[in-house]
Parts: sequence; structure tokens; C-alpha cells
Amino acid sequence: MLKNFIIIIFIFIINLFNWAAAAENYKINSVHFDNSDNVIFLASPSKVQYINVKSMKLKEPDRLIFDIDNCVLTRPNSGWSFKNSDIQEVKVSQFTTNPNVVRVVITYNKDFKADKVRIHRVDNNLVISYNKNLFPQNDLRSVYNDEKAEVNYYEYTTFNEEEKTTTQPADNTSGTVAVKAFNSKGELVKQDASKIVVDNTPVSKLKSSFYVNKIDIKRGNALIRGVGSIGVEKPFVVKEPDRLVFDLPNTYVAQDIRNKEFVLSEKETIKIGQFEPTKARIVVTTTEPDKFRPIYSYDSQSIFLAHDDRILGLTFYDKTSAIYTYSAKKNNDTTDTLQFTFTEPVVHSIKKLNNVLEVNLYNCSGFNHEAYKKNLTSEVFAKLRTEALLPYGIKMIIPVKNTTLVDYKQSFDNKQLSLQLTTPKDAEINKTGPLFIKRNPNVKTIVIDPGHGGSDVGATREGVYEKDITLDISKRLAKILDKKGYNVLLIRDKDETVSLQDRVKYTEDNHGDLFVSIHVNSSVTPEGVGLETHYFTDQSYDFAQVVHKEFAEAIKSKDRGLFKSRFYVIKNTTCPSILVETGFISNPEERKELMTSERRQKTAEAIAKGIQKYLGKE
Ligand SMILES: [Zn+2]
Repeated sequence: MLKNFIIIIFIFIINLFNWAAAAENYKINSVHFDNSDNVIFLASPSKVQYINVKSMKLKEPDRLIFDIDNCVLTRPNSGWSFKNSDIQEVKVSQFTTNPNVVRVVITYNKDFKADKVRIHRVDNNLVISYNKNLFPQNDLRSVYNDEKAEVNYYEYTTFNEEEKTTTQPADNTSGTVAVKAFNSKGELVKQDASKIVVDNTPVSKLKSSFYVNKIDIKRGNALIRGVGSIGVEKPFVVKEPDRLVFDLPNTYVAQDIRNKEFVLSEKETIKIGQFEPTKARIVVTTTEPDKFRPIYSYDSQSIFLAHDDRILGLTFYDKTSAIYTYSAKKNNDTTDTLQFTFTEPVVHSIKKLNNVLEVNLYNCSGFNHEAYKKNLTSEVFAKLRTEALLPYGIKMIIPVKNTTLVDYKQSFDNKQLSLQLTTPKDAEINKTGPLFIKRNPNVKTIVIDPGHGGSDVGATREGVYEKDITLDISKRLAKILDKKGYNVLLIRDKDETVSLQDRVKYTEDNHGDLFVSIHVNSSVTPEGVGLETHYFTDQSYDFAQVVHKEFAEAIKSKDRGLFKSRFYVIKNTTCPSILVETGFISNPEERKELMTSERRQKTAEAIAKGIQKYLGKE
């Protein structure tokens, strides 16, 4: 049976210039898809003046098509498909029937609001977004009372089903020029200059969370600017030479500043690179890594990476804020939340040192410490102290544990801050010190290898580090096995760097009978979720199978199965060796789970049970 399966509803052709201009080749050299922000980012190094995009909405299946003219995809075609999502598939490819065109196809189901899709030009890049709130009609404000941001941001069009009213062409290249290529009956409309219509709706400016395009050095501090809400993951220090490293999640770095070195002072430099497809990394080479902190602007569109001794006298924002409301509550045994609202957007920094959390509010006076203390219901925040931060601010100092995890959120308008502190209850384990071998030749020696550690943080998201989770699970596992009477060798019992070679060497030197490496998985998209067990040698297969079965049964997550993988530690140890990926840090729900002691304990118990079963079978 034949179906009239393609209905062209309408087509827009968008252009920012006059049609006759010679076409430059536009190259797309990377494609990023961020499902959490509902953004497709097509990045180009080409400095072209004009980018032409044709948009179509087709039926059966429902899909949106963007054809980018005179465009070459210099990387392999990309595709993503999703279950249980309104978007079913996204494909970016060099269009086969017209090799001059790069085609983006978004296939969606009936619940998806296709009219929310927007396509923007951001410098030389194209951004397709399908979340209405991603780009509110906010102006780009200058940050830190600095120069006005220069913008080259355009919204091309929207998928309105209504007819656009035709107006005279205007000599205004900053507006969006929309030309209808087809009429409502699907007939081609001849393109001629007199039919070009100018859509006079204001050009929207982007505000999102992903685009950094400028670094300015000011008195030895770095102002990192971009478009959108910039966030920073917990900084860490790398040795020899000393470097301070910050990761910016959901951030994309403009080509022209990528990996360029900027001089902060005689002996200090700063660099920003694209570390992962959706993550940027800032590296500051300095002998004083502890002195730097990121300060968030009042509009979150930039961070000021400031050296504590070099910001005296700098004012960040001319409006002084005051704390308007606050609340502190105990969420559960391990988690406390402190929340503030402010009268004005607040310029702030959050910095965790070993045993203290510093929250600096640079433009905030007005804080009644006594009144605040009286209303505290949380033990954690009862120890909070405040100091003046000249000229207009407050420094809050909250004593925390070394192991405390800080989750921090700010509202879009920067009038609300929320701090969530989670301190895992592993105090007992910490006190016992290294769980090391009680050599007893009659019992098996089980080597537990907490993945990563020290300067190797492993996978990170939102300030949560793989190395911390692997250590905690490993300690719990060591404790259980120790109680069962096994010889237990824990490769590291604190946050320290251990090379892969050393991990293998310790195992061999101590005649390990079984080797278990604990890791946390990550993926560039948040969909990835679940449990994996890896083995390499044939003699490890049974061990992997038995442990994985216990593990996958005990933990309510997706069972991704067994993998034969060439990981160094399981390839080079001579005993049966496995590597357990205990969940995905990049999946927000699983990350939350992995931060709980329940999940960690269950994981440790399941692996321990698997080990016992395997040894019993032998
Ligand atoms: Zn790992």
C-alpha cells in the first residue's frame, strides 16, 4: 500500500547576506551533542562571513531537517539514538545526493514540541537547541563592569507553523533574513532579491552553559568569558610542574583560544583546552596553586580566576546585595543543605580546602550572624563563621571533613545559592588505618585496587570524583573481606597517586590470589547507565562471571554484562583479575546513587559475596 509519506509543511531558507555573494566553503570539524542541555553544537574553524541553513519539517516519521549549504563535514558522520526520549534520533552527515550540503536530521515522536527548536549562529559555529528555556531573550551584559561583550550571535529562525508577514527588505544585516522557498502548497517559490523578507524581531542573544571565547588577563588574574552559565568542577592540583586544573562541564571552547598560552605573570600561565567533547579544562601553571579561586560573575556568564593577593581593590559589581532569606536543614544522616536568597545577584566563589569550605560573597553585606545562628537546625552549619571581605563582602567559613562532597547550585538570576554537603560515614574505616596484609599462608590473598587517586582523579562530574568513590567502595570491600578472614591487600587507602605498573607490581610481590580493580564509568552523554565487569585473561573469565552475577543482581541498575578488555591492571597481573565498573558518574541519577553509602556498601557486599562464591567453587 502506498502512503503519501512525505508532507513538506514548509521550508525556510535563511540567509544573512545577499544571495549573489560568492559562496565560501564552510567546514564543520566537530559535532557535539549534549542531551542534557538539548543542544547540538556544530563547530567550525572557518572564518566564513555567511552560513546558509535551510530548515524543513517533514512527516512520517516526524523529523526536522537542517541543510547547511556549501558545507563540508571534515569528520565522520555522527548519529545518536535514544530510547524513552521525545527525540528518537539525531544524525549529522554529508548529504549524499548533494555533497555540498551537510544535513542534520532530528527524528522525534509526537510528544516532542518541534516548534521549540532554534538554530543559532555563534561566531563560526552553529547551535541547534530544542529546549525553549535555553536561550532566554536576555541581553548579554558586560561582566565585572568590564567592556561590553562583542557578539556575533544570531538566531536563524523558528518552526512557527504560521505564515510570516512580508515586509520590505531592509538594509540591516544584523536582522534575520528569512526567505520562503516553498509556499504552503509545497510549491517552489522562485528566489529573487525583491522577495527577501527581513524578520525584524530582535536578534536573540545566547545564554546557555557552554561557550567560552575569550580570556583576558587583568593584574595577574584571568577573566574567562563566554556565552552562558559557566560552571566549574572542583579544582585539583597536578605536580611537577605545579599546575592547577579546573574543569568546566558542558563547555565548548572557541577554536581561536583553544590551547593558547596566556601569561598571568612572569612565572605563571593559563591555558584552556577542549578536554572532552562537552568539557573544557583550564590549566594554570603556578607555584601557588592554593591562591587561585574561580569567582562567578553576577550573571554567571564568566568566571574570574583570581589570585587572592591580586584582587584587592577590584570591585566586581556595583550593586551591593544582602542576604534576604536563609535556611539550613539536615536532609539525612550524611547530607546537609544551606540555602540563601539575596536581594541582588551575588558575585561569589566557593572553595574547598582540606578541612574547610570557604564561600566568598564579594558584593554582599547585610548578614545577621546571630539571628542566623539562632535558627540553625543543622550541626554542620552551626560551626559556620563569618569574616568581612573588603570592600563590600562576606567570607563564610564552614568546617568540613576532608571527605565531604560539596554540591553547589545557583539560580539563573544569581539571587539564590544552595550548598549541599555530604560527608560519607566512613569515619570508622578511616580510623583503622591501612587495611594491610595479615600474612597467613593458608588463606587467600585478595588484592583490591581502588581506581585512580591523587593527581589522577578519574572521571568527574559536578565536582564528584571517581577516585573518591572507588576508594570508599574499596575500603568497604576490604573491611568485609578482612572480617571474613582473608588476607586483604588494599593498593591505596588514601588519596594518593599510584601508577598502573606499581599496582601490578604490588599484586605480584605480595602473591595476590585474586585481583579486583574498582572503577566508576563515564560517558559523554548522560544516558549511559549500568554495571560492567571486565576481564582479560581466560583464567579470569569464571571469576568475572561469578562476581558480576552477584553484583548485577544486588544493584538496581542496567546490567551491561561482561567485557573482555585490555586494561593494564587486569592484563598484566598473573592471578585471576577483574575490573568492576560500578556505575556511571555521567548519569545524574546514578551519580546521586553512587554518592550514597547505601549504594557503595551494597556494591562492596555483592562483590565480596561473589569473591566468596568463586573461592568456594574452587
Ligand atoms: Zn576508572
